Amino acid sequence: MSQFLPLLVTDIQRTIRDAVVLTLQPEDPKAFAFKQGQYLTFKQDFDGTELRRNYSICAGLDDGVLQVGIKRVDGGAFSTFANEVLKVGDTLHAMPPQGTFSAGLEPDRARNYLGFAGGSGITPVLSILKTVLKREPKSTFTLVYANRAVNTIMFREELEDLKNRYMGRLSVIHMLESGQDIDLFTGRVDQNKCAELFKT
Ligand SMILES: Cc1cc2nc3c(=O)[nH]c(=O)nc-3n(C[C@H](O)[C@H](O)[C@H](O)COP(=O)(O)OP(=O)(O)OC[C@H]3O[C@@H](n4cnc5c(N)ncnc54)[C@H](O)[C@@H]3O)c2cc1C
Repeated sequence: MSQFLPLLVTDIQRTIRDAVVLTLQPEDPKAFAFKQGQYLTFKQDFDGTELRRNYSICAGLDDGVLQVGIKRVDGGAFSTFANEVLKVGDTLHAMPPQGTFSAGLEPDRARNYLGFAGGSGITPVLSILKTVLKREPKSTFTLVYANRAVNTIMFREELEDLKNRYMGRLSVIHMLESGQDIDLFTGRVDQNKCAELFKT
C-alpha cells in the first residue's frame, strides 16, 4: 500500500502571479532524502474525493530544504488549492521521493550539460542544475527554457543569481512566445529552432 507521510508547510513564496514555491518540513526527514530530479506524490481530499498529484522537488541536494514549485492550472484542483488556499502551518501528505530523472554525479569530471524545460517543467531541471553546479565544479550547464512571456517565467531571479554565483558555468537561453527583440529567441522550441540555436 502507498505510504503517505505528513509534511508541514513552513513557507510559501509567490514567485510569479500564478505559481508558488512551498517549503516543506517532513515529520520524518530521513524518508524524504531525495535525488536531484525526483518528485513527490501528494494526496488531498476535495469534497470527499481523494486526488493524487505529482510535483517535482525544485531544491538542489545542498540547499538544505525540501521545496516544490506549483504553477496554477486554470480549473485545476490541486494547483489552485496550493496557490489560493494553502497556508503556512498547514500539513500536506506525500509519498517519499520517487523517479529516476537524473544523471549520476561525477565530481571529478568536466561535463557540458544541456537541459530543456518549458513552464513548470523547470522544477526537476532546476534541482539537477543546482546540484551539478555545486557538486561537479568543472562542469557547465546550458539551459534552454521556454515560456509564454517574461512574467510567466518561474525561478527567473534564482536563475540570474545562479548565473552570477557560478560565473561562466551556467548559460540560460530564454525562449518566449512573444516579447523578445531577437527572432532566434522567439517562438516554440522545435527541430528548426534547435538547429538555429546549435549553430551559435
Ligand atoms: C512527474 C510529474 C512531475 C510534475 N511536477 C510538477 C511541478 O513541479 N510543478 C507543477 O506545477 N506541475 C507539475 N506536474 C503536473 C501536476 O502533477 C498536475 O498535473 C498539475 O498541477 C495539474 O493538477 P491539478 O489538480 O491542479 O489539475 P486537474 O484538476 O488535474 O485539472 C487539469 C486540467 O484538466 C481540466 N479538467 C479537470 N477535470 C476535467 C473534466 N472532468 N473534464 C474536462 N476538463 C477537466 C481542468 O480544468 C484543468 O485545466 C508534474 C506532473 C508529473 C507527472
